[in-house]
Formats: sequence, C-alpha cells, structure tokens
Amino acid sequence: MSATRVLVLNSGSSSVKYQLLDMRDSSRLAVGLVERIGEEGSRLRHTPQGGGPREWTGPIADHDAALKAVAEELSKDGLGLDSPELAAIGHRVVHGGKTFTEPTVIDEAVLAEIERLIPVAPLHNPANLTGIRTARALRPDLPQVAVFDTAFHTTMPESAARYAIDVETADAHRIRRYGFHGTSHAYVSRATAELLGKSPEEVNVIVLHLGNGASASAVRGGRCVDTSMGLTPLEGLVMGTRSGDMDPAVIFHLMRVGKMSTDEIDTLLNKKSGLIGLCGDNDMREIRRRVDEGDEQAKLAFDIYIHRLKKYIGAYYAVLGRVDAIAFTAGVGENAASVREAAVAGLQSLGLAVDDALNAVRSDEPRLISPADARVAVAVVPTDEELEIATQTYALVEESN
Ligand code: AMP
Repeated sequence: MSATRVLVLNSGSSSVKYQLLDMRDSSRLAVGLVERIGEEGSRLRHTPQGGGPREWTGPIADHDAALKAVAEELSKDGLGLDSPELAAIGHRVVHGGKTFTEPTVIDEAVLAEIERLIPVAPLHNPANLTGIRTARALRPDLPQVAVFDTAFHTTMPESAARYAIDVETADAHRIRRYGFHGTSHAYVSRATAELLGKSPEEVNVIVLHLGNGASASAVRGGRCVDTSMGLTPLEGLVMGTRSGDMDPAVIFHLMRVGKMSTDEIDTLLNKKSGLIGLCGDNDMREIRRRVDEGDEQAKLAFDIYIHRLKKYIGAYYAVLGRVDAIAFTAGVGENAASVREAAVAGLQSLGLAVDDALNAVRSDEPRLISPADARVAVAVVPTDEELEIATQTYALVEESN
C-alpha cells in the first residue's frame, strides 16, 4: 500500500502543534500540542482519533525532545514516525518572502533561503527552522515540505504589494507587503467557490479571517490581489492584541514625546493594542457579554473593530470591481454572528445583507447566511489550515513520485 499519511507541524518558539492526517479521507489520526518547550512545566497533549486526550507534563528541553515525545505518543497508537505509511511531513513556515510562491520540498538551499528571510520574520522563521531541522534529523529519508503563510499573496500586483516609500530603501531592506494567513485565505476562497457551485477561477471573493490575528484579502478568480497584513502581521484590521492600521508617525511621537524604546513600542502595538488595548479583553465572547451589559468601553472597542472591518470590505469591493461572495472565517468570523451582522449592516446598496435566522445558525459546515435573493453571497466558511498544508504537501510529494 502506498504511503498516505502526512504529519503537519507548526513549530513556534516554545511550542509545536501537530496533526497526523490520512489523505485518503482527510481524517485526523491524531492531533496534539507541546507547550512551554524549554520552560518549566512543559506539557504535551495528544488526542488520537476516536480516543480521549492524553496529557503528559515533564521537562521538555528543546524541539528535539518535543518531537521525540510526539513520536513516542504516536507510536503508542501504531502511528510512529518510522511507519512506511507516512508519506511526508508538511511544515508551516510563516515567511517565504518573494522567493517562495508555492509549497516547496525542503533541501539545504531552501533552508538557507528561509534563514536569509529571518530579518523580515525574526519571531517566526527561526522557530519554524528549528522544527524543520529537528524533523529532518528524525526522518532524513522522508520528503519534508515547507508551506508558506505568505505564498498565496505573492500574486498581488506591485501596486498593492509596494509601500509608497523610496524604492531603493524599500528594496535594500526587502520592505513590501507580504501578507500572512495565506494558507487560510487560499483554503477559504476555494471552499467558498465550491459552496457557490463554481470553480475558483469564476468567482471574486473577499475573505475575512477574523481570529485573534485578523486579515482580509481580495481574491480575483482564485488569485490574491490584495491583503490587509503587510511587511509584518501588524498592518490592517483591528486584532485581538494588535493595532492594525494607524498613522506611522504615532511611532515617532511615542519615541520623541513618550520617550519609549523601539522594543516597548513593538510590544505596545503587537501585544497591548487592538481589542485588549481598547477594552482590556481580546476575546470577542467576553466583549459581546460586556456590550450586552451596557459596558461603554467594550462597546467602543467593538465599534472600532467593526468600523475598520467595514472599511476593508468597501476597499476590497472597489479593488475587485465585482464581488460574488464575502466569506467569514476563523474564531470570530465562524462564531460571532453579531460581528458578521454589524460588518455588513447598511451595505444593502452594495448588495450585501445577512439573513438573521441563517446568521444565527451554529454549524461547523460552510454555509450561506445571505438572503436567497442577495446579489452578493455572504458565507461562513470554517478554515482548516492543517488540512490545506497536508493537501499541498501530499500533492507535491505525489507529483514528484
Ligand atoms: P483563532 O485565532 O482563529 O483561534 O480565534 C480565536 C478568537 O476567536 C478568540 O480570541 C475569540 O475572540 C474568538 N472566538 C472563539 N469562539 C468564539 C465565539 N463562540 N464567539 C465569539 N468569538 C469567539
């Protein structure tokens, strides 16, 4: 029997998330997470298909120890990394720069290029690299594929990808808009076309990925033409803890007048802004609860969040010219009916509306929430980044076999 399993690894600086999928039916054979690697109280949580979670707490010094612990857990269910049924390992890599426009089989040259991109992704790429190196050491014979968060956005035209700053300076420092969450935008835009019974080439979609991090994208005929995140994930929508768009001069002001350091401002804008900065909570459930109780601060945070979202819907409507569907996805987009309702409220003249009863339905399935006669479909499409990484990885490995 040919190998049909793909292990998807998402390596952070102190965590590894993993899923083992069987590509014959896209089922999850196991999912899990190792947290607090190299810290006190490291923890592994492993859930095999059809079974309850198994938890393990104890010292896990580094990514090597983490992956070995994962391999051991998988072995207990007969799913070990040495299994001939394992076809490949797919790695999520955050930044592929302009170089990586597609999933790529990892070799030394690819590793060197991901390393060269560290200056534009100082937090993520080193952790991703560590995960890749560790997995390669464990199974040097197995194809390992890098799937880049930026790849889907490399089709953006220069008019959308460039900042209006001095070209030489921009190029010297590789400053441009790369965009992130690309795997999710790719998956959701395709799944939205499918929901409409069309091929991706036939439809224009605005994807709103609203999780703790949030981004919008304009997808014309299956290709991304604009997205809201930029050089880093800080640009664009209001997020759980990130400010999104603001006048860049705020930073000079904070340095000159506020006497804040670069690192302090970085932390302020990435970790202490957005919803949490505005009202002290970054969980939309809690914010809605407070709004319903009449909390003014939570209401203002919600209104700012929605105002920004609406601006992007309008902007991408104009960028695309014709819009067939708007798709809401990720934690907030999939679950918060109030956000979906508010985001399209008053946009009837653009053909946008939600049906209250459909919007209130809770489901894990892709679904339409617009009225039957709506000009533009409004959809809720649950994202599945792991499945997309596994699918892309498997396709590449099958192709080269
Ligand atoms: P993600 O980054 O996609 O995992 O999304 C996480 C965010 O989704 C959380 O911070 C919450 O704000 C939001 N979220 C999750 N479940 C719900 C829910 N039932 N209602 C509203 N927001 C939710």
